[in-house]
Order: sequence, then structure tokens, then C-alpha cells
Amino acid sequence: MSKTVSAYAATSATEPLARTTISRRDVGPHDVAFDIKFAGICHSDIHTVKAEWGAPNYPVVPGHEIAGVVTEVGSEVTRYQVGDRVGVGCFVDSCRECENCVAGLEQYCTGRGGMRGTYNSVGRDGSPTYGGYSQSIVVDENYVLRIPDAIALDAAAPLLCAGITLYSPLRNWKAGPGMSVAVVGLGGLGHMGVKLAAAMGAEVTVLSQSLKKMEDGLRLGASHYYATSDPDTFKKLRNSFDLILNTVSANLDLGAYLSLLKVDGTLVELGMPEHAMTVPPFPLAGMRRSLSGSMIGGIAETQEMLDFCAEHGVTPEIEVIDASYVNEAYERVLASDVRYRFVIDASTI
Ligand code: NAP
Ligand code: ZN
Ligand code: ZN
Repeated sequence: MSKTVSAYAATSATEPLARTTISRRDVGPHDVAFDIKFAGICHSDIHTVKAEWGAPNYPVVPGHEIAGVVTEVGSEVTRYQVGDRVGVGCFVDSCRECENCVAGLEQYCTGRGGMRGTYNSVGRDGSPTYGGYSQSIVVDENYVLRIPDAIALDAAAPLLCAGITLYSPLRNWKAGPGMSVAVVGLGGLGHMGVKLAAAMGAEVTVLSQSLKKMEDGLRLGASHYYATSDPDTFKKLRNSFDLILNTVSANLDLGAYLSLLKVDGTLVELGMPEHAMTVPPFPLAGMRRSLSGSMIGGIAETQEMLDFCAEHGVTPEIEVIDASYVNEAYERVLASDVRYRFVIDASTI
């Protein structure tokens, strides 16, 4: 039987999120149903509900950093059982047949329906998807992750988006000893980038708007910390980095950041601001630098990231909040006043 559960939803770009009810589908043969215990607040939730990426399909129930405990499994499910600690990230299905799906890059699915987002998307059954700001969810077992025992459920939630979004490019560009990595923006994504890059053995520099969070940045694993509001920073750090991970949710002067790369260095765009940014040719061509981008990670890589975090003791710094605080939390994220991820206690939904 489909189930009615409480959720927090946005009904327009300007109204605050409010409590509502949504329906969760029947548990199919390949489905896992779980009680959501915690859901992280990602800046992408805010871009979406504020229609900064185009008009979403309201009501939007955001949340793609979801951790909980299995309550029911379908008859054909082999990987999970009732009581297991599980998570779901940014997508709940994909075509499973295209070149990218077969390669474990489901986030770049080019097949029919593409990657089906955890919210503001359409499921295989044709109904709208609703995310983690809710009491429970039903997801195909192939898109469910196992949360290692060493990671508490509240800390596990942000790994499902912020964690994998930084882990994937760090692995792709082979971060490790001898590599100089800069993380731009010390928010939800950025602080995971610092922790993960340090755990992989890279030398990490934080580039933040001010020095306000310097003590935190150094504690999280950075060796250096600079304020980007200080023009001297860009003079001093010219030609310094092998890899720059830009996690900023707003437009930056990309040319200024490109010029901080060494020859053959790469700037990976992870932030998804509302408006386009321009790329000046000289700082790019002048040192054979590259500009790239990266989006979350595939299912197998997300599981690898969770296991890596358990092994290396890498967990996000979180502030657990009641669901009724969600609108204030959004304001604080927008003011860069988050240390470093808000996580909703789903029992308060
Ligand atoms: P967040 O917690 O708000 O962090 C963003 C950080 O960027 C802030 O803490 C701030 O760091 C810096 N910042 C904000 N406004 C700025 C401005 N005007 N100028 C310079 N720096 C500014 O957000 P998040 O959840 O980490 O997400 C960051 C971005 O990544 C969003 O656009 C989100 O949609 C996107 N995202 C992308 C993916 C992907 O797969 N590529 C996945 C998840 C999220 P400082 O205070 O240190 O300067
Ligand atoms: Zn996200
Ligand atoms: Zn596909």
C-alpha cells in the first residue's frame, strides 16, 4: 500500500518551506523502503526551490543527502534487509543501459529518462520524485548505499552529496602526496574537500572570502589559508596549484583563479551558480591550463567514498536542526554562515 508521510515542501520560489504530506509508492519487488533519520541541506536545494536553475515542478520536497534505517524490502531484493543503515544521494534511478551507466557513471546517464533526481524529477513510474525532507522514502535497491557502522547516521547524510562531489574529482585528478590542491569556498562542499584531500595525502590550501574560518580550515586539514578579498593573495599564489576545486555557489572571476594554476593544472568547477561565468582565454592558454567540471559521483564510487570515510575517520562537521528551522537555515547558508552543514533531524518532520 502506498503510504502518506509528512514532509517539508516549497510551493513557490518566494514562500517559505512548510509542512505538508506526500505519498510514497508501494514497495515493489526491487525496492527498499526506509525511515529517514537525517537529511542534509545542500545549497542545490536552495538553488532549486528559488528557481535559480529554472522553474522547478512545485511542490518541491528537497533533500538529496538522506540517511536512515530499512523498514521493508521487496521480494527480489538481495542486498538489503530490515534494520540496515542506508543512504540515498542525488539520484534514485537511471537508464542502466547507456555507456555511462554501464561504466558506473550513472550521474552522466544519457539514456531514456536520464539520471532521475531524488527530487524535482520524475521516477520510472512517471510520478514526481520527492526528496529527503520527509519521514520515509522508497528507492530501487540499486540506488541505495550502505552506511558503514563507523559513521553515525547524522554525519553520514552530507556525505551522500557534499562528500561524493568532492571525492570524485579528487580521485579523477589523482589527488595524493606531492599534489597541491586548493579548495575555493569553505562551506558544505568545501570543508569536505579539505578533509578528503588531506586524507588522501595532498597539500591543501583554502581560498575563502575572509580569514574568519581560518582556524577551522587548518583544523580540518588545510596547510594554508588565504582570503580572496585580499588582492595580494592572487599575486602571491600565481602558478601554485596542480588542482583547484571551486565550490562557490556564486560567480567568480575565473581568470583570476585560473592564473593560480601551474602549467597543466586544472580548475574543476563544482559550484553551480545561477548565472554563466566568462572564461578569459589568456590565463587558460598561457600555461596550458584546463577548466573542467564534475557532478556528484556514480553509485559504486559513492559506496567507495563511504567506505573510505569510515576507514579514514572522515566525517562532516554538522549542525543538527529541527525541521521547523529549515527556512532560517537557508538564510544562514546564503549568508555563508554554516559550519559546515545543516542536517535536519527527520523525527521533527
Ligand atoms: P555552501 O555551503 O553555501 O558553500 C558555498 C561557499 O562558497 C560559502 O560557504 C562561501 O565560502 C563561498 N561563497 C558563497 N558566496 C560567495 C560569493 N558571493 N563569493 C565568493 N565566495 C562565496 O554551499 P554548498 O552546499 O557547499 O554548495 C556549493 C555549490 O556547489 C552550490 O552552487 C551547489 O549547487 C553546488 N553543488 C554542486 C554539486 C556538483 O555535483 N557539482 C553538488 C552539490 C552542490 P567562504 O565563506 O569560505 O568564502
Ligand atoms: Zn547536493
Ligand atoms: Zn544511462
